[in-house]
Amino acid sequence: MKVHHLNCGTMHPVYGPECVCHVLLVETNNGLVLIDTGFGIDDCADPKGRVGPVRFVTRPVFESTEAPAHQLDRMGFRRDDVRHIVLTHLDTDHVGGAADFPNAQIHVTSAEAVAAFASPTRAEKVRYGRQHWVKDRDVVEHDPKGEAWRGFAAAKELVDIASGIVLISLPGHSRGHACIAVDAGHRWVLHCGDAFYHYGSLDGTHVPRTLWAMETAVAFDRKKMGDNHARLSELYNQAEPGLCIAPAHDLKLYERAKATAEPSN
Ligand SMILES: [Zn+2]
Repeated sequence: MKVHHLNCGTMHPVYGPECVCHVLLVETNNGLVLIDTGFGIDDCADPKGRVGPVRFVTRPVFESTEAPAHQLDRMGFRRDDVRHIVLTHLDTDHVGGAADFPNAQIHVTSAEAVAAFASPTRAEKVRYGRQHWVKDRDVVEHDPKGEAWRGFAAAKELVDIASGIVLISLPGHSRGHACIAVDAGHRWVLHCGDAFYHYGSLDGTHVPRTLWAMETAVAFDRKKMGDNHARLSELYNQAEPGLCIAPAHDLKLYERAKATAEPSN
């Protein structure tokens, strides 16, 4: 499948490096699929209402030209051709752009849907309180287990969307966080969402303190967050040429993924 790498939300965290919201646009035989969505048009129009106080920490530019809907328009795609949106989790900077594709099914893990809507903790009520519009959407919940993918025990190939899109349960950042692997033909792209913020968590180099503090503060389970870093670091350091690992917010890994994608990207 052809995979396009989009930045749908430049951010300038306080004292931190520039960050992106890395979104995959996948061309399948079953229409277009988005993996995460960054910020949408409504978020850019109403940051206070849609994103809330966290914007003072992450400091998104809220430029609507970066919204996935506008990027698809410029690329010559029809918004209605986006049939499915697969989300790593339901934080605003991952789900916001889904509002611009009202006919697309939204796919998340069951654990994330429970955390956001069915039985949130007090902290999760704050975390997901502005995303309640998602409940009115066609949400498909998945419970990945039993189909191992490269050593990750809890995975599920989403064959009803397209073969070659695999949802991998990796809780830690949020209760039902997932990574999503996509078969791009010449390689697999592993979109890690917020399983790690900065490449330093994988290659052992310095992680900017601001990012480390943000990641730790928001983590649902810090022990699992650390375990996920270790597991992904192991995979990253194997340096498989057929595997591209990138999280949602790391500028360097986003640019590398984009530069090494198929030439017509
Ligand atoms: Zn995020």
